[in-house]
Amino acid sequence: MDGSASYDSNNIFGKILRGEIPCHRVYEDDETLAFMDVMPQAAGHVLVIPKTPSRNLLDADPSVLARLMPVVQKIARAAKDAFEADGITVIQFNEPAAGQTVFHLHFHIIPRHEGQALRPHSGQMEDGDVLAANAEKIIGELGS
Ligand code: 5GP
Repeated sequence: MDGSASYDSNNIFGKILRGEIPCHRVYEDDETLAFMDVMPQAAGHVLVIPKTPSRNLLDADPSVLARLMPVVQKIARAAKDAFEADGITVIQFNEPAAGQTVFHLHFHIIPRHEGQALRPHSGQMEDGDVLAANAEKIIGELGS
């Protein structure tokens, strides 16, 4: 990593955490927020982020990761059930060269079905009603 790369709170997920822009939330606790990706690569694509400012995996404090990963697992299980998925892809990009476009640490959780390719990364915006309905499906599984 470029050693000069640091956290800039003026990123889109920082704004979501501060409530400056909306999101379709599926889960929140003191340390973590999970919400629907607005340009999903498959139905049910969720992003899980720590509330602690971290640019990506490379600068995150291990204690932040220790609190985040159980939530990644919890959301992955719920998304798999909610979408009757055959599997779950977890993706996490670090720095522009690796495909990172939003510089607040996040894990992508993407339900997968046999034979169905992923849609492009940061591709087409999904309809808000669809995102809301998909969020509800996952919330329903988290509650059960
Ligand atoms: P990455 O940084 O890992 O390349 O991807 C950032 C992800 O954030 C992309 O999948 C993109 O669709 C998603 N994204 C970008 N802007 C927004 C936004 O305003 N709200 C939400 N919920 N997701 C976003």
